[in-house]
Amino acid sequence: MSLQATIDAKVGAIRDRLATAVSTASRSVDDVRLIAVTKTFPLTHVEAATAAGLSDLGENRVQEALQKKAATPGRGICWHLIGHLQSNKARKAVVFDWIHSVDSVSLLQRLDQAADEQERTPQLLIQVDLAGEATKHGATVAELPSILEAAASCRAVVVRGLMVLPPLLRDREAGRPYFRRLRQLRDELRPRVRDTVSLDELSMGMSHDFEVAIQEGATIVRLGTALFGPRPRPPSVENDQVSTET
Ligand SMILES: *Cc1c(COP(=O)(O)O)cnc(C)c1O
Repeated sequence: MSLQATIDAKVGAIRDRLATAVSTASRSVDDVRLIAVTKTFPLTHVEAATAAGLSDLGENRVQEALQKKAATPGRGICWHLIGHLQSNKARKAVVFDWIHSVDSVSLLQRLDQAADEQERTPQLLIQVDLAGEATKHGATVAELPSILEAAASCRAVVVRGLMVLPPLLRDREAGRPYFRRLRQLRDELRPRVRDTVSLDELSMGMSHDFEVAIQEGATIVRLGTALFGPRPRPPSVENDQVSTET
């Protein structure tokens, strides 16, 4: 089978599973945005994914994404940065349409300044560390109010919601407590945020647990291997959020 036919078939199968998951949760397909995670895959996969009708693509390294973005102009692709972002890359990162990994006031403010200068309006999600793992990125629950407060005075970036990356466990149910906690946290915080900030979006769920995440209220799911198969090269631990082997 050609790459295109393989990816078309996988996209079709995932769309069916998504449709089942949303209807089981009494939700609508329009409520869940599917991000195809193309990190470490070559441009051929980016092309095939867009030809298969996927328009939201996720990458976790700024440099790799910028190359792919430059090679696919005028395709109407919505680019998502899902990996950890170092402050010194903020300037480059504001070309992404969405950034899922904002985890400090200082990063938020750097992004806002860079976005303002470059006249861009990236949509941001605050990554929350619910596992309390020293190696994982993300803001602690205690840090969230100050980040949301700072978000209210941003001029260019727009905070849209929260993101979580639970510890990677084989069991698809293992993520559920994290997904549920993220939604509860959102519900608790929502009445307290200023009206320039929204917490409508919950980015949670990956290839092995997206159906569970949808049951728990995910509005954005990030799928790599379920759409493209195993990644061609193991992403480096430093740049890849998903560093634990399954
Ligand atoms: C790589 C990655 C994904 C996709 O993981 P799969 O298991 O391949 O679906 C999702 N989210 C983040 C943050 C990632 O780094």
